[in-house]
Amino acid sequence: MLSGKLLINGALVEGALRLDVINPATGKVFANIARADANQLEQAVAAAKAAAPGWAALGCAARGEMISKLADAIEAQKDAFAKLLTTEQGKPLKQAMGEVIGGIYQLRHYAAQRLEAVILKESDTTRIVEHRTPLGVVAAITPWNFPFMMVTQKLGPALITGNTVVAKPAPTTPMCTVMMAELAADILPPGVLNLIIDNNDLGAQLSSHPDVAKVSFTGSTGTGRKIFAAGADDLKRITLELGGNDAAIVLDDVDPKTVAPKIFNGAMINAGQVCLAIKRVYAHSSIYDELCAELATLAENAVVDDGLNQGAQIGPVQNKMQYDKVCGFLDDAAANGTIVAGGKPLDRDGYFIAPTIVKDIADDARLVREEQFGPVLPVLSYDDIDDALARANDNEYGLGGTVWASDVNRGVDVAMKIDSGTVWVNKHLDLPFDIPFGGSKQSGIGREGGDEGLHAYTQPHVVNIAISRI
Ligand code: NAD
Repeated sequence: MLSGKLLINGALVEGALRLDVINPATGKVFANIARADANQLEQAVAAAKAAAPGWAALGCAARGEMISKLADAIEAQKDAFAKLLTTEQGKPLKQAMGEVIGGIYQLRHYAAQRLEAVILKESDTTRIVEHRTPLGVVAAITPWNFPFMMVTQKLGPALITGNTVVAKPAPTTPMCTVMMAELAADILPPGVLNLIIDNNDLGAQLSSHPDVAKVSFTGSTGTGRKIFAAGADDLKRITLELGGNDAAIVLDDVDPKTVAPKIFNGAMINAGQVCLAIKRVYAHSSIYDELCAELATLAENAVVDDGLNQGAQIGPVQNKMQYDKVCGFLDDAAANGTIVAGGKPLDRDGYFIAPTIVKDIADDARLVREEQFGPVLPVLSYDDIDDALARANDNEYGLGGTVWASDVNRGVDVAMKIDSGTVWVNKHLDLPFDIPFGGSKQSGIGREGGDEGLHAYTQPHVVNIAISRI
């Protein structure tokens, strides 16, 4: 039975306050858990600070063993994690299980990482060696769309490199992090992982705390800007994984029937609440109408339901605020484009919105310019590929993007011209843990994953040695 407590200095503790957690498929409260106040946040940071030297001194191998144990403990309860994830976040159970298994693999991947010293220069007289040392206390602040994997994505690299962590999940999806912290309480030394639950009121205190050395943040660009500013005073290390408005460019040589299911899935998975979801489609005019028709059929036939129900393909939007925001985009689509499928919320409890396809919409409509983060997809037409690229790149975001082409070489040529951190050709959302991932422009700063992501939790420490005796 989930205790619903905070984790501070190795102890599961009650919160000074309480927080209701809502199931988005019903719109009703399903849990009431501990919520921290400012004082408890101070205690969590102090515990992480006190635990840091001992944890750093353990070395990668011993830390990796404990991270693996945490992965094993989660795996033993993966069914319960997946069910809880669907209940708090809304995604269909199969997708929730995929997220939980992905998070377990992520922890195992990081448990196996080692920080080897690198000899930068060696001669008869000199040896210069670069070591990687931990930063100290890491604040791991996560959003509500992937509440399990976003936490493991930060915990894994932060812990293996010798940092201690204060985790703060989004208040609408804290449950899986609470369950993970309960398991961690029996595995990790006190203070190495601390969990704070808030109601969107402690993020600023955590991200500006003088004893926090690094903030690893995934969330909206607006909050990212605040964190960037808050870190300026003491020059914190900051990784920002922010919003996106990813374009899919469909070339004239593809078969619309073949590509439509891939584009539909890339746009609608997790009810469109994916930073790297396809959020705008630019299709060549020769295939435009047929592609729109195929996408509309897929939208009409998609099963939208409570993610716990068998057969559900698209669940609810995660929270009321986002639901209202997506309803605003529906209004914009109706005013500035032609809705060819969906266009309305479902007439039932919970935050369900019918998957919506919008054609003939202007480039300057809100649905095209802003991040909708919901199951509403604008499809635009182009005649000239350079024009499509210019329109795709004319956006403040640059997280991902896709190109769909029969001729792969043409596809790669187009991909090279998309200004974003990742571009896929004829596939989508393939994110291996050993490949760096992150945004250009206002989609972020820094990378997660790969050596770059791992090293972002360390600082280089160069020791320059004269070989001759003195
Ligand atoms: P959000 O920015 O509203 O909240 C994210 C987290 O920040 C929450 O835990 C919140 O409590 C906390 N927070 C709020 N105010 C804060 C402050 N002043 N200082 C520090 N922390 C604060 O984002 P969201 O609505 O939960 O998530 C959706 C957004 O996240 C979308 O824009 C999406 O594209 C983005 N996202 C990006 C990635 C990526 O890897 N680039 C992945 C998932 C989601």
